[in-house]
Amino acid sequence: MYKVPKEEEVRKAIYRSLKKHGSFSSLYQLREGVLQELRKMDDEYTISIPRTRTVTARSGFVKITVKKRHERKKMDKCPVCGKELKKIKNLSLLGEEVVVGYACTLCGYRGKINEGPLRYIFHLSR
Ligand SMILES: [Zn+2]
Repeated sequence: MYKVPKEEEVRKAIYRSLKKHGSFSSLYQLREGVLQELRKMDDEYTISIPRTRTVTARSGFVKITVKKRHERKKMDKCPVCGKELKKIKNLSLLGEEVVVGYACTLCGYRGKINEGPLRYIFHLSR
């Protein structure tokens, strides 16, 4: 049987694992580190990679650097924290509004129109 940790416990585990390791250079590593700390609280705890990512992005104490790659897919939701993205617009020469990129008001993610996340790097921000 697996148990789902509370948000507060996940936040603690994120903090402890980053304190111990300094940084993680992928989501997979972050999740492994967090899981290790969660298992110290309860050995039946488990957490998915997307949940680890969203709780981390919303924690306020983790700096996330996103390495990007070219991507054609349209994005509605933030690839880091899952919040709806705000469109960044510019006026074209003809005076029409064109979307040039996206910004997240929650975690600070910014990307150009044809960019998507390739890799995440996590650090404690304080
Ligand atoms: Zn975000």
